[in-house]
Amino acid sequence: MPYVFEHLDLIGEALRRSPFGLITDVDGTISKTAPTPQQAKVSPLCRQYLSALCNQLALVAAISGRPAMEVRDMMKIDGMVYIGNHGLERWTGGQSEFPREAQNYFEVVKAAIEELTPLLSIEGVSIQDKGITATIHYRLCPEPQSAERDILSALENSPHARRLEIMQEKMAIDLLPPVKVNKGTATLDLIQRYNLQGGIYLGDDQTDFDAFRAIHRASLNSDFKGFAIGITGQEMPQELEAEVDFTLNGVEDVERFLNWMSQTALE
Ligand SMILES: [Mg+2]
Repeated sequence: MPYVFEHLDLIGEALRRSPFGLITDVDGTISKTAPTPQQAKVSPLCRQYLSALCNQLALVAAISGRPAMEVRDMMKIDGMVYIGNHGLERWTGGQSEFPREAQNYFEVVKAAIEELTPLLSIEGVSIQDKGITATIHYRLCPEPQSAERDILSALENSPHARRLEIMQEKMAIDLLPPVKVNKGTATLDLIQRYNLQGGIYLGDDQTDFDAFRAIHRASLNSDFKGFAIGITGQEMPQELEAEVDFTLNGVEDVERFLNWMSQTALE
């Protein structure tokens, strides 16, 4: 798979397009995977370069499965756009906005979490209530595979969970409203909203697939040229490689790349 640093000429060419947007995933992309979500921290260098890029580009957005306010608290960069809950939540002007079709699902998610509480008796399992979505984590389980099986069977037996969409991540399972909103629709929305002519999306996981495809779909339009960049690592799904234009090797490489972007955007 083409390595970003061997193709900087192509990326530099796209970077000259204006308005240009940079959209980045958070966990596993600009923040190293930690044993629990609470322990994860955004790399200080990524934060520094993203902050500089906010003054250079039309749009710098962070997109995550976490609630938007949590992402904002992790980044603490004014002028950045925060999209949370896999695209279901947008933080603007100090408050969250949710798509209308998702608003009825707060109660369903709450009821599903209640039905799933017996899972907490499995060592290492935790359930994160994120309002409009929920995430069941099993990274800390001594036997993650057997925990995963138990979680999937509990989901099948929970009437409220059955009304939700189930998405498997690395050592985590998400419960989402069954509406057509994801990181891909959120990416297309940003491209339109900011009238972007060029863009880059950085991501490392299953949930970024939709965004990679969105970047490619938008690039079919001659007004937009964008690249999907996959962050490779031990946990990166194999299929991800087929969906990206270029790869970076881990968070340290993302730091180097953001530094390069910030230097290049100055020219
Ligand atoms: Mg990620």
